[in-house]
Amino acid sequence: MKRTTLALIASAMMASCAPSYRDVIIPQPQVVETVKGSCPHDAEPAVTIDSSMEHGPESYELTIGKKGITIKAGGEAGAFYAQQSLDQLRKAYEGRLPAVKITDWPRFRYRGCHIDVSRHFWGKEVILKQIDMFARLKLNRIHLHLTDGAGWRMQIDAYPLLTQRAAFRSKSDIYEWEAENLPYCNEGDPDAYGGYYTKDDLREIIAYADSLHMIVIPEIEMFGHSNEVTAVYPQVGCKKDGTRCSVFCVGKEETFHFLETVLDEVMEVFPSEYIHIGGDEASKYYWKACPDCQARIRKEHLDGEDGLQSYGIKRMDEYVRSKGRKIIGWDEILEGGLAPGAVVMSWRGEEGGREAAAAGHEVIMTPSVFCYLDAVQNNPEHEPLGFGGMLPLPKIYSYDPAPAEMPGKEYVMGVQTSLWTEMIEKASHLEYMLYPRVFALSEIAWTDPGRKDYDSFYRRALDMSDTARELGYNVFDQRNADLAPEGYDQVFKHLAYGCKVEYLTPFHEKYVKHGGDETALTDGLIGGYSFKDRWQGYLNSDVSVIIDLGKPTTVSSVSSRFLQFRSIEVMHPEAIVIETSSDKEHFEKVCEISNELDWENRNYTYKKFEWKADSPVETRYIRFTGKINDRRWGWILLDEIMVN
Ligand SMILES: [Zn+2]
Repeated sequence: MKRTTLALIASAMMASCAPSYRDVIIPQPQVVETVKGSCPHDAEPAVTIDSSMEHGPESYELTIGKKGITIKAGGEAGAFYAQQSLDQLRKAYEGRLPAVKITDWPRFRYRGCHIDVSRHFWGKEVILKQIDMFARLKLNRIHLHLTDGAGWRMQIDAYPLLTQRAAFRSKSDIYEWEAENLPYCNEGDPDAYGGYYTKDDLREIIAYADSLHMIVIPEIEMFGHSNEVTAVYPQVGCKKDGTRCSVFCVGKEETFHFLETVLDEVMEVFPSEYIHIGGDEASKYYWKACPDCQARIRKEHLDGEDGLQSYGIKRMDEYVRSKGRKIIGWDEILEGGLAPGAVVMSWRGEEGGREAAAAGHEVIMTPSVFCYLDAVQNNPEHEPLGFGGMLPLPKIYSYDPAPAEMPGKEYVMGVQTSLWTEMIEKASHLEYMLYPRVFALSEIAWTDPGRKDYDSFYRRALDMSDTARELGYNVFDQRNADLAPEGYDQVFKHLAYGCKVEYLTPFHEKYVKHGGDETALTDGLIGGYSFKDRWQGYLNSDVSVIIDLGKPTTVSSVSSRFLQFRSIEVMHPEAIVIETSSDKEHFEKVCEISNELDWENRNYTYKKFEWKADSPVETRYIRFTGKINDRRWGWILLDEIMVN
């Protein structure tokens, strides 16, 4: 062996011991230049602030060289971020720090995490701990969903019942509580579950976040998701009989007085320039039936209930602007016309955000498919119950909130993850859903897309996970990730592969965009773990299809996999019937399998139903039926009918 080869191996081995600068910091810095030399591990940095730096107050230059460490920052925030990078370098290198020059700035000015503190209440300490980790990742916003039907979480002096009663419920499990028709309790009742932040608690959270260059954005939800408010102040709801409803009455002046008074107290506590006013999923049902709301629609010549919502949001926008602040709302605030100064938070997809940006409105992207952390991140059969589909680490990392071709991309203020907590009761579970996925958010929010590299990020995310665990966070172990079932990447060329399928019951178009079109059952591809991944769906009906094998064929087995996810009413079939025919007129039943449904399990379960012939049979047509028997409701999902 030649010396040069040995030298190459030796240098490669050295490289594997000391990490390259590309493989240390999250989020990946914009420019990293390695230079010769090194400096002592514990050298103290010399910090200067230069407000004329090109990329603004959050930017910095970190130089490690023979003469020591220098930080030049565009502002205090930049100096803080330089220190975060330096801390990560110190963690990665045991001996002297190799010389480097890092020039760094954020891609977006809004880099945030949302936490739902209503569905389950998270005490001050839990929030402070997450702020700590978010700051290490150079995030600069935390958005608290302070109010929702499951509980009001902020002390409001003018309306004390909001916390004395509407902050507590009788059951911790939100579904059990909903099944009992949402009973609230009084603070101090023996079975009262919940809590709220006093104004002092909130001031402490805000001050702590501020010390780490993070702004706390409060959300006061209107005009929907407001059962807890109308339960204790029914006069601001639409029901005349004094019972609660899920919406504020936009017809009454009293409602605006209530909301303005609440927002006065919110703005007194929260210095944030932006105040989130919700605006999502307001049911139009009560407004349609409410004489006050209908009178408002007539008097103001509004375009129905959408116009009423837009009217209400515009009034709140004007009010908040009159106090020198701005509103953020979920993308439903686009319906009926957007208030002029409002920022759109795009969650139902990217369309709302794109539409608003193209029209010159500021937007924050948090599309659920890429940014909702209540979805599971791993094989859902073995995970705590999640919501929606599946959001594994590589998927969130792949997201670009403002791609080059997007019209109005300069109006994208930034991106955030959103963590809804219907199914999350414990802080350890909350953290498990946050990390490591928030590491990926950090990088898509900070680093220019051209510098993103998943393989490098993955290695850094593992290191950052170890660091977080040392600090006491509960982090999902990405090393154990199981993101697709066995055979997912394969094309199974079974006997029905590519064969024509005649649909005796129609499949639902909702699943077509997820790969459930007319070819789905014989395309050779099995479904992924998520219900949004190559499954074909049937609503309130059996699945019944005839597969034409094209010619008489010797068949020894037929099988199909079904998915159950009770949370969204996807259930396994109650029976499978398989029939064969040579002429598509006369069918012979070769198999019937009955199935007892598992009603207890709310999580994903996959079940394969298979007929194996005692001796192979010849057939051209196969009629395959999955029955829902007397149930007649819910979804049936299957991925492929395999014939062998
Ligand atoms: Zn009303």
